[in-house]
Amino acid sequence: MSRINDIYGTMVFNDAVMKARLPEETYKQLRRSMDEGSRLSQEDAEIIASAMKDWAIEKGVTHFTHWFQPMTNITAEKHDSFLVPDGNGGVIMEFSGSELIHGEPDASSFPSGGLRATFEARGYTAWDPTSYAFIKDGVLCIPTAFCAYGGQALDKKIPLLRSMQALNRQGLRLMKLLGRDDIRSIKVNVGAEQEYFLIDEEMYSKRKDLLYTGRTLFGAKPPKGQELDDHYSGAIKPRVQEFMTELDEELWKLGVLAKTEHNEAAPAQHEIAPYFTSVNIATDHNQIIMELMQRIARKHHLVCLLHEKPFAGVNGSGKHNNWSISTDSGMNLLEPGETPQENAQFLLMLCAVLQAVDNYQDLLRMSVSSAGNDLRLGGNEAPPAVISVFLGDQLTDILKAIENDESYAPGEKEIFKVGVHVLPKFPKDSTDRNRTSPFAFTGNKFEFRMPGSSASISGCNVVLNTAVAESFSQFSDYLEASEKPVQEAVRDLIKKCISEHSRIIFNGNGYGKEWQKEAGARGLLNLPSLADCAPCYLDPKNVDLFSRHRIYTPEELNARYLIKLESYCKVIRIEALTMLDMVWKDIFPAASSYSALLAESAYKKNNAGFEVNSTFEQAVASGISKILSAAFSIAGVLEKNLKEAEKIKDPLKAACHYRDYVLSAMNELRAESDELENCVSAEYWPYPSYGDILFSVN
Ligand code: ADP
Ligand code: MG
Repeated sequence: MSRINDIYGTMVFNDAVMKARLPEETYKQLRRSMDEGSRLSQEDAEIIASAMKDWAIEKGVTHFTHWFQPMTNITAEKHDSFLVPDGNGGVIMEFSGSELIHGEPDASSFPSGGLRATFEARGYTAWDPTSYAFIKDGVLCIPTAFCAYGGQALDKKIPLLRSMQALNRQGLRLMKLLGRDDIRSIKVNVGAEQEYFLIDEEMYSKRKDLLYTGRTLFGAKPPKGQELDDHYSGAIKPRVQEFMTELDEELWKLGVLAKTEHNEAAPAQHEIAPYFTSVNIATDHNQIIMELMQRIARKHHLVCLLHEKPFAGVNGSGKHNNWSISTDSGMNLLEPGETPQENAQFLLMLCAVLQAVDNYQDLLRMSVSSAGNDLRLGGNEAPPAVISVFLGDQLTDILKAIENDESYAPGEKEIFKVGVHVLPKFPKDSTDRNRTSPFAFTGNKFEFRMPGSSASISGCNVVLNTAVAESFSQFSDYLEASEKPVQEAVRDLIKKCISEHSRIIFNGNGYGKEWQKEAGARGLLNLPSLADCAPCYLDPKNVDLFSRHRIYTPEELNARYLIKLESYCKVIRIEALTMLDMVWKDIFPAASSYSALLAESAYKKNNAGFEVNSTFEQAVASGISKILSAAFSIAGVLEKNLKEAEKIKDPLKAACHYRDYVLSAMNELRAESDELENCVSAEYWPYPSYGDILFSVN
């Protein structure tokens, strides 16, 4: 471990560096700004900028960038150097407070969903002092928020910061009502487990589908997939180990506490999980992890695939968002306590999350929706598209007992009373066994398992934080209006909440078909695709939620609605075009040549007057011809459906058309083509097979 101590955080302008390098008063002001959101003076900004520059220059840095997160899933940066002419023909290194605080990147090509009309195309970046600056690739990166001239959020950071404030505001209000005057702030912690595939660079470069779309659009099932369960947490292969070691070291330098690395269920699939931290930093860190994984993989002649479903028939990749809330003194509010009072508080927090998830299923589902993730959700290895909460039998029994005024343990006579009785201890293991739940309570946190592997975790956390802030706000309203003593009012509130929202609790097998039926009977939403959930952005109940908590204005929300739909259509369009390119240029010609070869061979054999006939050649050649003509006609349908889709102006209608006509034709074309792959000789087949790709790394 000495190695990690030597390098951990060496590339971060973190608290220790700031404390050492800033005058005491400036440091205090900066801490206040980080902890309480107070504004920094220009004078302090100048001092911090200068200290930051000196620190960076000592590490060989010459450039800085405002690092921001536009409404795509990746980060953006534009590099500027510290160099300024000194007036005597030489240069000096300078970095001013205003350069630290504000930037004006050329932003016209980032998606804005209509928020930034072209005549005011400029976007502005503003320093986010709550996330530390760091050095990546020899450039000083300053985490920033990105907004339009009118202040509208053009990125994924501003809404996240706003949602953290909303949760803090409403949480403190509720805690005061519970008599917790000692709590000064409430923050959200997140640990995001990241799944990914690592494949050989050579295989990757031979597949147009991987190159253009990040996933395979064709590929017959290999003889061996993940059925033997021999990859999960199996021995890590040396090349992968070298990659992971380098990744860990680079992440540690950037202050990302990468902790666990292991193989996942599918061949070539792996996972990395950093230690949890404040949600804003966890989101920045997840972006850094995704970027570094892709870059470092290349150094090892590997390619890191972040797509949610790169291969049909084996598991896809997700991102498990472990979420909890804690106080300024570090108390986890989702940790069951030792005393009846603590437990009343814990149960109230639990109810707040249950109510939030039940009332905003649509938004949560929307927050994890994308063309890529839709291919994964609802598959038999991934959480279903229906949202439910797993609590484990023990906790569910306790909630039932509370709801019905019963005892919670078999044979026990006493009625369980919130605020009077101590909860039994539930070991983590007893709550962590169900891996099929999209939203599971795992002892002292909730694990949201639906987010896709390529997405920023900002989106789902904005919804979670805001929905829970809304629960807190409604609970506070209830307690304020109640005339009963607070303990009793809390008890009533918990009972009411359980009876209103217990339909969202499901501890069974989320992958089973029966669950879909039962969920329907319970009135839970089942939204299989992005086109199904996008309208929820326009639903008055949701517009109202985001406006009231000052997360998104209706205009900002509408922009997200448009961008999500546009990107869905674009992704499917690129996939369809890639498929057509692959069948016309490579797959059809290969199948045709091979069947011609067989036909020719049959003809020759027959003419040569062999005793045996040419059954094999004839049967295969004619089989290939049949499939080929079916595939040919589907390719025509796909082309036609694609042309129609391109003409549709309304984004929602276009998305529905892509889903119903383009995707379905793509699936049919794939099925025929995969049949061809099974018949055509490997020598003629133009692309590496699934077997070649999935077992390419040793
Ligand atoms: P598993 O694979 O069993 O779900 P891991 O250990 O791989 O668990 O990942 C769990 C993640 O949850 C880690 O990122 C961890 O830091 C994070 N985590 C642990 N406790 C909390 C908490 N109280 N709040 C948020 N995240 C947490
Ligand atoms: Mg997990």
